[in-house]
Amino acid sequence: MQRTFSLSAYMHQRFGQRVQKIPLDAGFSCPNRDGAISRQGCVFCNPLGSGSGMRERGLSLAEQWAFWRDIHLGTHGIERYTAYLQSYSNTYGPVEKLAQTLTALDGLPGLTSLSLGTRPDCLDEAKLDLLAEQKDALELAEVVLELGLQSSNDSTLTHINRGHGTAAFADATHAATARGLKVVAHVMAGLPAPQGREGLEELLATVEYLNALPIHGIKFHNLYVCRGTLLARWFEDGQYVPMTQAEFLDSLSEAIMYLDPKIVIHRLNGNPQKGELLAPEWAANMRGMHNAIRAHFKKHDVWQGKKNGAEAGPPEWYSPDFKKAPLP
Ligand code: SF4
Repeated sequence: MQRTFSLSAYMHQRFGQRVQKIPLDAGFSCPNRDGAISRQGCVFCNPLGSGSGMRERGLSLAEQWAFWRDIHLGTHGIERYTAYLQSYSNTYGPVEKLAQTLTALDGLPGLTSLSLGTRPDCLDEAKLDLLAEQKDALELAEVVLELGLQSSNDSTLTHINRGHGTAAFADATHAATARGLKVVAHVMAGLPAPQGREGLEELLATVEYLNALPIHGIKFHNLYVCRGTLLARWFEDGQYVPMTQAEFLDSLSEAIMYLDPKIVIHRLNGNPQKGELLAPEWAANMRGMHNAIRAHFKKHDVWQGKKNGAEAGPPEWYSPDFKKAPLP
């Protein structure tokens, strides 16, 4: 039984086949790191960013694309792809830089859709208009903005040095969706907060906040401590204690049950890069995490929306058979 409206289920419905994300590093920066807002960054952010390092090795976007596409095509025969501009804030800087980046995607073989990771305060009218235009010009089925929200509590956002508040997220979401762009919200469980670590109550408040916005998808992350961050110092000083795996599983389960069943879940947990994890140890074991989440959902009969509109049972699109029917 499928217990969540997963990205893979959505992609099968939408395209009738697997669509693989290809991570691309286009060389963008972040205003919360380069001094425009702050130089410290969000307290949990790995200073090395989430890039593949390919840009630093001098690979163009087309070369990065070819590298990953050859692997996916050769090993799994995958033919359709999402270009995923992942590192830092991919709409930061002048609109011309974004335009150049989008032009460089033109003609990439198998390009089907585009996802951009960015901050909600790095999207002005000109950039949103450009993205909407290029969606048509590049014949992209979808353009998705992956926006960091992390928490719906403004005092938490201040505490983690996020550099923007919840209003920026809501404004960007409305402005993007009005132009036919989709929004995926990033959310973190276990954030440090002025009153201590955020818990279930705050996570459910964030889910409730997102349920009321026109978001298309969500990524859940369990906050883990990366080396070289301010959070690492707080952890070493004893000011911050990460969630236990049991706490995370309980919180995630409740969040899933209160989540609108129409929101696509892109991720259920965070995935530390090699060498960056300081704590907690359980966050390192990806396969163990997936198994633990699956077992926990089964044991407690968790499914998405169970406490929010799907009380009678999982909607029909949870069925694996339903994957074969493309969305209207
Ligand atoms: S907005 Fe993203 S890239 Fe910038 S500091 Fe925060 S987590 Fe890091």
